[in-house]
Amino acid sequence: MSVSQELNPTARYLMGPGPSDVHPRVLKAMATPLIGHLDPQFIEIMDGVMEMLRLLFRTKNQLTFAVSATGSAGMETCLVNVLEPGDEALVCVHGVFGNRMSDIVERCGAKVIRVDAPWGQPIDPHAVKKALSVSKPKLVAIVHAETSTGVHQPLQEISNIAHENGALFLVDAVTSLGGADVRADDWGIDIIYSGTQKCISAPPGLSPVSFSPRAVQVMEKRKTKVQSWYLDLSMVRKYWSGAKRAYHHTAPISMIYALYEALRLIFEEGLENRFERHRRNHVLLRDGLEEMGFEYIPAPEYRLPMLNAVKIPSGFNDAEIRDRLLNEYNIEIGGGLGDFAGKAWRIGIMGHSCTENHVHMLLAALRKIMNAG
Ligand SMILES: *Cc1c(COP(=O)(O)O)cnc(C)c1O
Repeated sequence: MSVSQELNPTARYLMGPGPSDVHPRVLKAMATPLIGHLDPQFIEIMDGVMEMLRLLFRTKNQLTFAVSATGSAGMETCLVNVLEPGDEALVCVHGVFGNRMSDIVERCGAKVIRVDAPWGQPIDPHAVKKALSVSKPKLVAIVHAETSTGVHQPLQEISNIAHENGALFLVDAVTSLGGADVRADDWGIDIIYSGTQKCISAPPGLSPVSFSPRAVQVMEKRKTKVQSWYLDLSMVRKYWSGAKRAYHHTAPISMIYALYEALRLIFEEGLENRFERHRRNHVLLRDGLEEMGFEYIPAPEYRLPMLNAVKIPSGFNDAEIRDRLLNEYNIEIGGGLGDFAGKAWRIGIMGHSCTENHVHMLLAALRKIMNAG
């Protein structure tokens, strides 16, 4: 029997759909000595995380915290706490993550009303309006930044339509939060979740969430128990924000240290500066890619700055080029998912990976590989 070698992975540049590069200060925060998860000093750190998350989501929602698991657990938390068996939920599907939401809705025993858009296009508010003229679902769910297609979904109109029909408005902001404007209160978002490893640039492992007072009321009126013990907010809430902080599960201390420091970095830079940095580097990357013959999948007005989904020009081999980028240049980019497998790339410039240097490095490496044929 032998023990494995010491961990020593090669340093990479993370330019895929997440995780993104992590700032050294965040890595250093993770090495902070542990204290107990009920230590008054740790409770203060949790309070700091909640306060900074409210600023990031631009919300006054009291119930704003981080679920102890990745973005998909945030998605599940938002759905299982609101939906009960027999409820209806309208889910907008324009890529992989809308599909995942509709799967969870079904697992809640609720009925899914789907509004689809072709991959690479945003959801049409008229289609949502039409679906709501024949049904009255408890919530309308949609992805703000569809990481599988690179589409930046406008939210305001669909939010208004949801509210006019008495539904809660639920938004997936996993990829947008920290890289583009997200305004939970101004946009009438009742329920929102994100993840730490995209534009927040911390490691994967936590999912920031926020619930409006209206959403909290709906949860408090449930007749049935939440199907998930771990994600049941009636209990988790008491640990994050109860008058007496009671044990529910052991908080992932080091991850919360990481999120705390990543949020501090975001506010040191300033939200507007950060969004502008993502836009600026997106333009630099776009110009370089288009010059090489790449075409963007979404129309110009619906492109995400942090996730660039492009068609691979004919004659170039997807897997071979991505292997060479990784092995010869230590750059990771993402391949296509679903309908786009083998045909598209997803290039992320998220958070700490969103620098001019990253863009120039990738473009130079691609030019070298592709010109050589
Ligand atoms: C990454 C992602 C998720 C899932 O997050 P995990 O951290 O992988 O569980 C959900 N929605 C969107 C839009 C994402 O990009």
